[in-house]
Amino acid sequence: MAKITIENAVLQVPEHATIPFIIGDGIGPDIWNASVRVFDSAIEKAYQGKRKIEWKEVLAGEKAFNETGEWLPEETLNVLKEYLVGIKGPLTTPIGGGIRSLNVALRKELDLYVCQRPTKWYEGVPSPVKHPEYVDMIVFRENTEDIYAGIEFAAGTPEAEKVQNYLKEKLHVDYNFSDTTGVGIKLVSEEGSKRLVRSAIEHAIKHNKPSVTIVHKGNIMKFTEGAFKNWGFEVAENEFADQTYTWGQWEKTKNSQGQEAANKEQKEAELAGKIIIKDVIADNFLQQILLNPRDFSVVATLNLNGDYISDALAAIVGGIGIAPGANINYKTGHAVFEATHGTAPRFANTNTMNPSSVILSGVMMLEYMGWQEAADAIVNGLSQTIKDKTVTVDFYNLMDDATLVKTSEFADFIIEKL
Ligand code: NAD
Repeated sequence: MAKITIENAVLQVPEHATIPFIIGDGIGPDIWNASVRVFDSAIEKAYQGKRKIEWKEVLAGEKAFNETGEWLPEETLNVLKEYLVGIKGPLTTPIGGGIRSLNVALRKELDLYVCQRPTKWYEGVPSPVKHPEYVDMIVFRENTEDIYAGIEFAAGTPEAEKVQNYLKEKLHVDYNFSDTTGVGIKLVSEEGSKRLVRSAIEHAIKHNKPSVTIVHKGNIMKFTEGAFKNWGFEVAENEFADQTYTWGQWEKTKNSQGQEAANKEQKEAELAGKIIIKDVIADNFLQQILLNPRDFSVVATLNLNGDYISDALAAIVGGIGIAPGANINYKTGHAVFEATHGTAPRFANTNTMNPSSVILSGVMMLEYMGWQEAADAIVNGLSQTIKDKTVTVDFYNLMDDATLVKTSEFADFIIEKL
């Protein structure tokens, strides 16, 4: 067994790779134990022993706390750093204590600046919309900045008062502050924005996608969300001039030569196969994904917007039980794959929840490793199982004539159909 490494930004994956995993809290063990059998069976089926994963358990969350007294032991971080690629179940967010969120801490420690969340509909999955198949998007959510930096001060504290006084006295901010006002700081940098949008554009190029949409609230937050959009356009125009055309360029042409000329320029870019870099204001985007989902493909957005958008998209294609995700640093190669949902503690050890989100996170991991055949086998098995209406309770409650199965049985059916 050997470690995955990276050379010149290319992942080097040994045939027998060791991958650390965090089993997760709450429903974590149920869905992990089901998912890992699917991964191993798919790899065996695709490569007949030539390729294999050796799973190495590392501790985090409640299990870590009970065994070591720490929520996120140093050892876990070191192993994830050393082995590059890992996968995790959901973790409880400790209440009180020094850690705000284990997930946020992991992302920060490994500088996993892209949170990548694909949304795609599988035939048969119950959906609240008429045409869930129109949704085929992948969200690139900035994962290290924005208000998630966690710099905030509670109302009535000396810190909040100091910040407010500084704003009033030194920066002459005209605002009616009071001691009942809490303060949070939103941070968005040029490097942070550019590396995120760069990854989204590279993904669009690699996978032949027609557009990248920058989603922001720049009309209100000009120097954070507005700057994110401008930096995004800059990346496209400066680094991908031959492959992209931005709505920023359209705007410039419109201002200098009129709208007709701008439209003509965009049409030519489309015909030349260029990726169109659009921008949409966040609130409008949330209605557009329901009204005109086919207009969007790759989405690049800030941390908080990305959180809302990926849940809204997940709801359209079946909910968080089937929504996978990955946290990636494309420079260092570090990646932690994880379901989007939490620990659903009420359902812990019931063997009833849907393991699809962890299974599809594993598919993303296998694709990241270049083990496409195993990834495809899993997607086939999962699609067929859902098409046959053999489903866990979340889908069962919303479907007619479905067969209700346990978490572990759902995995058995997928394995049968690999
Ligand atoms: P949750 O996602 O755990 O559960 C919300 C509801 O979604 C559940 O009651 C259940 O009905 C449904 N659900 C979730 N996973 C499902 C699955 N696999 N199959 C079917 N239905 C599923 O959200 P919550 O209750 O707000 O959070 C519980 C805990 O999880 C908190 O401690 C929270 O901080 C943590 N959390 C962790 C992560 C993570 O580790 N990535 C993400 C979100 C929340």
